[in-house]
Order: sequence, then structure tokens, then C-alpha cells
Amino acid sequence: MGSRKTVDIKGLTIGGSSPVRVESMIKTPLSDIESCASECSALAKEGCELIRVSFPDLALSENMKLLNERSPVPLMADIHFSHSLAIAALESGCSSIRINPGNMSDRKGTEDVIRLAKTLGAVIRIGANGGSISKAQMEHAKGDRAAALAYAVEEQVSILDRCSFEDIIISAKSSSVMETVRANYILSQRYPFPVHIGITEAGIGTAGIIKGAAGISLMLAQGIGDTIRVSLTGPPAEEVRAGYDILRALEIRERGYNLISCPTCGRKRIDVASLVKEVTSLLPENIKDGTTIAVMGCEVNGPKEASCADLGIAGTAGGFVMFRKGHTVCSDSIDNLKKHLLKEIDKI
Ligand code: SF4
Repeated sequence: MGSRKTVDIKGLTIGGSSPVRVESMIKTPLSDIESCASECSALAKEGCELIRVSFPDLALSENMKLLNERSPVPLMADIHFSHSLAIAALESGCSSIRINPGNMSDRKGTEDVIRLAKTLGAVIRIGANGGSISKAQMEHAKGDRAAALAYAVEEQVSILDRCSFEDIIISAKSSSVMETVRANYILSQRYPFPVHIGITEAGIGTAGIIKGAAGISLMLAQGIGDTIRVSLTGPPAEEVRAGYDILRALEIRERGYNLISCPTCGRKRIDVASLVKEVTSLLPENIKDGTTIAVMGCEVNGPKEASCADLGIAGTAGGFVMFRKGHTVCSDSIDNLKKHLLKEIDKI
């Protein structure tokens, strides 16, 4: 989508003409290798394409190596302050690391990290968060927080630039949607590198998803963003599902089915909410990506408004009518719904 450059993490391309990638971060400490491995497998099953892992301690190097061997998708080690940790992560098989070179006090150590990443063909993600903007960066940006956030990233890019390192993903996040959008706009104008986007500390549940979706959608609509994370207080699988929901709503990527269901009104003839649950529980796991399923409250508007559906159901006075691509397949009493549903789902 947005960037002019592409990077490759163990065969996963990010940027250029690659699909917008969906990523997440495991929430189990690396000391618990079994739980980390099952979290990675569960995330991969949801469609997560890159998994970030906190790597806070050199004593966990062996676990990082094991997790690299067991994870079905590439890992990105998340490192703060220590160049030794970054080197250990690369030596443990991580093909991508997330560092803040500006936070690494040892200049030579930082250069060693960059050199090793270059030798191994690893990708370095650098970024800034709203919470870590320094006083000097704020002064440089004359008090504009979005510009300061972009400037914080620029400082880090310049460190990699001095070492002629180009396999970079950049990221600028804050918990403010508009601040994040403006910072990323500045950066995407300035650099050709792939951009990781998201709203950090977005919150919990629906409110968090809406905040993340608002920010991510605003940026994607401007052609900014090559990989996304919907940061949520909650299970990481929820982040991945929300990520694909956003991409599906924007018609950028399809994964799983597309559900259309009406909000219901005084005309409704069936319990749409329960029926959505029943229909979706009957759908096979391997349903073709992009299949459209519709559940509509009545036959007055339902079949027409959902005429694109691969399988649709609308309530009627006598029960329901089932339709495919706008054409009626059958109508019957509600007691016989499941029988017809199973038959039609089989045909999709
Ligand atoms: S499909 Fe029927 S029940 Fe649903 S919102 Fe439209 S008119 Fe109301």
C-alpha cells in the first residue's frame, strides 16, 4: 500500500505492493515458553502474520531461540536500552527487532547491532511513542506534539542512516488519534520505508477497537500504513480479529466471511441477533474468504438490501425466506431453518 520500499522478514514481505499485514504481541512473559508457544500458535490461527515478543533479559536467550523454532510465524523481538539484548535476539534467530537506538547509550554497541542485522538480513523497526517524547524534541518541534513524535523517529532513522542500514520499518504512535495521524503523515512524506501503524494504549473492548479503527482507517485512507496492530487491553487474538475487521471494512483485505445483518426495526419478523449467532456458529472454519452472509429482519427490505449475499435469510410472516445473490432459494417455517441452512451452507 503506502511505502516505496519493501522489507522481508523470513519470507513475510512488508511494504511496497505487499498486502497490509496484521500483527500483534504476545502477552505472556518469555520465561513461560509453553504458554508463549501456544499463544503464538493461537495468533497464527487467527491470521496474525508477525508477532512481537518482549525480550527483557539475556537469561531468556535460550527461550527466545526455542520460540523462534516453534512459532508458525516470524517473531519481532521488542528491546529497550540494551544493545546486548538486541544482539542476543538476532543470534537467537529473530529476523526482526524493535529497538530505539536513541535509548541505547553505547554508541559502538548500537553500531554492532546494526552491523549484525545487516549481515543476517534482519529488519529493524524503530519508532517513537507519545509517552517518550523528550523536552528537547518538544522544543525542536516548537511544542507541536505530532511534529515532536515525527522528529523523535527522524533522530533514530539518522542513526541507522549513518550505518547505511535500510531494512527499516518506522512507527510513530500515541494514544491520541489525531496526533498519531499527523506524525505518520509527516514521516510518510519524508521516508520511503514501510510504516507500522496503530494507536497505542487504545483501551479496552469496543472503545479500544473504535479508537484503533478510527486512527488506522484515517491513515490507510491516505495510503499510509503497511502493517497494523490494534493495541487492546485484552487477549491478543482480539487484536488480530479487529485488524482484519478493519481491513475488510475498508475493502483492503479479505479474511473469513463478511457479515451483513440489519439493525432491526418495527418491521422485524425474526430475532436477528440470535439468528446471527446460530448462522455463524454453523459456518465451517474453512469458509472461503470474502463469502457474504446476510441476516435481515424482514422480507420488505432484506433480500434487496442484501442482494450481494452468497447466502441470506430474511424473516417473513410465516417464518423465513432464504436467498442467494438476490434469488430466492426457499421459504419455510422457522422450525425448519437449521435443515435448510446446513444444506445451503454446504453449497457455498
Ligand atoms: S431489513 Fe426489515 S427489519 Fe431490518 S431494518 Fe430493514 S426494514 Fe427493519
